[in-house]
Amino acid sequence: MADTKLYDLLGVSRHASDAEIKKSYRKLAKEYHPDKNPTEGERFKEISFAYEVLSDPKKREIYDRSGIKGIQGGADAGFAADDLFSQLFGGGLFGMGMGMGGSRRRKRGEDTIYPLKVTLEDLYNGKTSKLNLNKTVICKTCDGLGGRPGAVNKCTVCQGRGIKVSYRQLGPGMVQHVQTACPECNGEGEVLNERDRCKVCKGKKIVHETKRLEVHVDKGMQDGQKIFFRGDGNQQPGVEPGDVIIVLQQLPHEKFVRDGHDLLMPHTLTLTESLCGFSMVIKHLDGRDLVIKHGPGDVIEPGSVKGVVCEGMPIYKNPFERGNLYVKFSVTFPENHFADAETIKALELLLPDRPPFEMPTGENVEEADLHDYDPDAHRGASSSRSEAYDSEDEDRHRGPGVQCAHQ
Ligand SMILES: [Zn+2]
Ligand SMILES: [Zn+2]
Repeated sequence: MADTKLYDLLGVSRHASDAEIKKSYRKLAKEYHPDKNPTEGERFKEISFAYEVLSDPKKREIYDRSGIKGIQGGADAGFAADDLFSQLFGGGLFGMGMGMGGSRRRKRGEDTIYPLKVTLEDLYNGKTSKLNLNKTVICKTCDGLGGRPGAVNKCTVCQGRGIKVSYRQLGPGMVQHVQTACPECNGEGEVLNERDRCKVCKGKKIVHETKRLEVHVDKGMQDGQKIFFRGDGNQQPGVEPGDVIIVLQQLPHEKFVRDGHDLLMPHTLTLTESLCGFSMVIKHLDGRDLVIKHGPGDVIEPGSVKGVVCEGMPIYKNPFERGNLYVKFSVTFPENHFADAETIKALELLLPDRPPFEMPTGENVEEADLHDYDPDAHRGASSSRSEAYDSEDEDRHRGPGVQCAHQ
């Protein structure tokens, strides 16, 4: 039978999303926080533990597969599991003298954030990227002590505070309070006998290490999405390491634009295709050739959008479902004088009727010609009246770029 105790603790189902787990944890943590509810320290601890496991995809997977025993046995559990397990699942002996916020609460280090560039193909198909991470780790030779046990002692000059306080007399009754780094220990608060200094870390307690991270980019992940490696940040003595956070950065794609779960792409048809039907091939992000056939007479207007159902992006954590693919069409027209007058007359017979034209009667009728309009040709020239583009606010338009035919 599946072990669901941790889910029960947070009051969520086994299939809860990360966001649901987080939300529920926040609510419960507030409710049972020892500051508010001192008698519920044990419950608070259990909730925190449940969240620690379920919010980490790796630990959650292990827990789902092999229950609490899997986590207990896992070397990568990443925290001192023994005491917590015995408290949680071995009789629940907790409390008695060990108040909340006791020895376990440590200062937390900063998170390390790395960008990871991915293609739209990567986000569609999923991918594992290997990253070399430079980080500081506690020196194993001296166990983070900086030297032999007992070699490091609290600085007696500053009492371990690392600062020296002095007073400067500025004038009668005026004293300035000056804080400087303790000269004895260089502000570190500790002194180390030179002979006992650790040779590996040179007394710094930490060494630099390159760690290889495997980043799993799952199908359907998005630009800007964060992938967490809990506690993989830089190690410092006495500080709980922060997280390594990988932030995905999607490179622009030459064909598709992503919009949530959907993909959009432009496609240009000839006038013939838009009127008489067409076939097109879309090379998809997984390499498939998607062949689309559109029947004759089913006219595609310039600017119209057609969709292909379920050919968009896979949905994150539910990759068998997908968004849609949308194609936005533009239409190119034939070149000028693409056919002789006879042929065009024949073509007109095939096309829908023109709207009726009525010649105006009266004195004020003039005929004019249409010319190509080139806005650059006329820039800077003084306003010149044009028959083709007669406008009331001529100054604003500065006249079109066609030459006045007769003046
Ligand atoms: Zn000192
Ligand atoms: Zn060392």
